[in-house]
Order: sequence, then C-alpha cells, then structure tokens
Amino acid sequence: MIEIRELTKRYGGTVAVDGLSFEVRPGAVTGFLGPNGAGKSTTMRVLLGLDAATSGEALVNGRRYVELRRPMREVGALLDAGAVHGGRTAFDHLRWLARSNGIGTRRVAEVLERVGLAGVARKRAGGFSLGMRQRLGIAAALLGDPGVLLFDEPVNGLDPDGVRWIRGLMRGFAAEGRTVLVSSHLMSEMELTADRLVVIGRGRLIADTSVRELADRF
Ligand code: ADP
Ligand code: ADP
Repeated sequence: MIEIRELTKRYGGTVAVDGLSFEVRPGAVTGFLGPNGAGKSTTMRVLLGLDAATSGEALVNGRRYVELRRPMREVGALLDAGAVHGGRTAFDHLRWLARSNGIGTRRVAEVLERVGLAGVARKRAGGFSLGMRQRLGIAAALLGDPGVLLFDEPVNGLDPDGVRWIRGLMRGFAAEGRTVLVSSHLMSEMELTADRLVVIGRGRLIADTSVRELADRF
C-alpha cells in the first residue's frame, strides 16, 4: 500500500505539496485528482525517490523508496510517456531494463503480451504512437511484478480507443489485488476509471472519498 504522511515539498519559495496525508489500499483504482500544478506529480516523484521530501513521509509498503531492497518488485510507475529510447525495439528496451534490474528476460515477453504489444515487439519504439508508448511504459512498470503501481496522467492526449485500453489495464491491475494510484485533472475520466478519489488542490487534501459516495452527493 501507499501512505502519505504530512508530506510537504518545497521548491525554493514554491510549496508544491503542503502537509498532505492520505492512504491508498490494494484492490482498487484510486484516482488522484486535481488541477494542473496541484502537486500530483511531485507526490509521485517523492514516492519514487526522484525527489526528497522537505518534511513528512511518502511510504510504499511501509518504507521510503530508498529503503526498498528490490524497488522494481514493489513499485512500478508510468510518469512520462515520451521517455522511450527511440532507436531500440520494444523488446530490446524492456530487456535492457530487466537486465539492469536483475529480472529474467522471460518476463519481457509476458509484459509485452499483457499490454497488447507482443505483435510489435521487434519494431522500433521510436515509431510508436503515443498510446503504444504509454503501453510500453506500463509494460516497463510491470517488469518486477510490483504490488504498487503509479500512473501520472496516463490517458492524456490519447484517442478514445487508447483511453479505453489503458483504463481496462488499470481496472485489471486492481482486480489482481494491486494498489493502483492514477493521477488526472479530469473528473469525467476519474468517474469512469477510479473506485476511490483523493482530490488535492495547491498541495493540500480537499477530499478522500469513494467515487460512488461523491456521485450520490451531486
Ligand atoms: P471504508 O472507508 O469504511 O473502508 P469506503 O466505502 O470508504 O469504506 O470504501 C469502499 C471500499 O474502498 C472498501 O472496499 C475499502 O476497503 C476501499 N478503500 C477504502 N479506503 C481506501 C483507500 N484509501 N484506497 C483504496 N481503497 C480503499
Ligand atoms: P501536478 O502534477 O498536479 O500538475 P506538480 O506536482 O507538477 O503538479 O507541481 C506542483 C507545483 O510545484 C507547481 O507549482 C509546479 O510549478 C511546482 N514544481 C514542480 N516541480 C518543480 C521543480 N522541479 N522546480 C520548481 N517548481 C516545481
């Protein structure tokens, strides 16, 4: 699971995250909703050890990222879809990631199959559409078969088919008992994707509720 406890992150004079606390439990898709600049990416970056907290904690399975012994086996993330080595094939890209993390090559074929890219495994990732690159990023996040998955705006800019694909994957990960946190600035998208919502604005918690409960209040 994920625990955010009194997390604050400042960049110089900017307070990106401001005393934020919430938990994300397994077996559900939790939407992380808020306008651009609300602090969603910053929270995810601290969870992944890519940024240090100014104060407070962001924990995966009870530990800070730097304390995880085999991080890829505990948490996987899709942060930036553009970040794919264009010259490599999808298979080679994943094999390189797997090898550098002590994960067997057999897993590469499995994750490509899971995200629907088995048929283009030998094609150069540089020629992939945005939706395909998103799915390749998700395949990379799955390499270590982690129980916790973070997706930062995974459907941004995708066509309706691409959105449905990724939504289906996220629902499937939750159904397998994984902890899934997915950020978005669109309530309409989160209504269709998430079971629970953590809503933030200006780095602070606004609401932490089930989607059904929220719908009932409208
Ligand atoms: P409760 O808060 O009593 O667990 P809710 O109606 O708020 O009940 O939650 C509905 C479902 O969502 C429950 O199955 C619960 O286990 C799950 N759930 C509750 N809180 C979280 C959370 N922070 N993250 C993921 N799932 C949650
Ligand atoms: P969101 O993901 O919700 O759009 P972010 O976490 O990206 O929000 O940003 C929260 C705030 O922190 C914004 O005001 C943003 O400009 C600022 N911010 C994020 N990253 C940095 C950084 N590396 N340096 C300075 N300010 C940053």
